[in-house]
Amino acid sequence: MWGYVRDIWQGAKSIVVGHIVTFRNFWRPKITDRYPHGNADENWQPGPGYRGGFALLKSDKEGRELRCTACMSCARACPVGCIHIEGEGKGKERHPVSFYIDMGLCVYCHQCVEACPSEALTMTDEYEISGTSRASLVRDLAQLIAAGEGQTEVSRVL
Ligand code: SF4
Ligand code: SF4
Repeated sequence: MWGYVRDIWQGAKSIVVGHIVTFRNFWRPKITDRYPHGNADENWQPGPGYRGGFALLKSDKEGRELRCTACMSCARACPVGCIHIEGEGKGKERHPVSFYIDMGLCVYCHQCVEACPSEALTMTDEYEISGTSRASLVRDLAQLIAAGEGQTEVSRVL
């Protein structure tokens, strides 16, 4: 009996709270960006925490060597299997010779970045991710290195 009463109370409470939230947000200014049409601002940048493209980072700002040791942790952590890596060398000498991320399959979950023990892989604020073929959505090693030029910090989930 009291279980029913409690369920009814909680259902009614959630409806009231939901309506309060809706009513409060109804009056807030609209912030929808009409991209790419409308009055798109050339200098527009995604908000903090946005995760789009990928980059491989180097060990220092001078960009002497890649941090990636081709350990495969990111590829194993990826739930959709869109990372493909081939490595060469042993121990500290190990490095990737081939590194592909298929952006057409990626679900932008950030798990690959979190799985990386070397803070070698990061997500970027690239947002124009489109192409005329599936192949054009695959990022290779050279593109990933170029995307990470000058960057030392990995992306964080806010
Ligand atoms: S963000 Fe997620 S889906 Fe995309 S490559 Fe990383 S682990 Fe895979
Ligand atoms: S990016 Fe990180 S997790 Fe992925 S292979 Fe390189 S070192 Fe390992």
